[in-house]
Amino acid sequence: MSKTYLLTGGTGFLGSLLSIKLIKKGDNLGNAFLCTKFHVYPETGYGNILKQSLENILNSQKVETINQEVYDGQHECRKCQWVNSCGGGCSFIRYALHKKFNAPFMYCGARKTLFQHIRKRIFKKETD
Ligand code: SF4
Repeated sequence: MSKTYLLTGGTGFLGSLLSIKLIKKGDNLGNAFLCTKFHVYPETGYGNILKQSLENILNSQKVETINQEVYDGQHECRKCQWVNSCGGGCSFIRYALHKKFNAPFMYCGARKTLFQHIRKRIFKKETD
């Protein structure tokens, strides 16, 4: 049975936005991924820390390509008023549904609606 663990803390949207090359999570076989959930899609692995140096993985074309696709997928997010609350969607959901890191985030509209609702409720409460 596979056990997952964190290799580093998450960088989320900001990391993608700044194109910071960090390996975020991995499995117990040494495979590193953008997020722990990606272990179900082995093709998304950045590399294997038991077989490769961290430096080689971080500087690999695969990491660069994945980071660029994540960045491209968050094009609308960089202009979105909710980005600090939302974090730019979920790369795993984008990939799971479309097999692309730069696919649309299916819950984008729902999140915007939710954030607008919360904001209205907060301001309403402050004026009550
Ligand atoms: S609400 Fe939509 S556009 Fe805004 S940050 Fe989230 S996923 Fe991106």
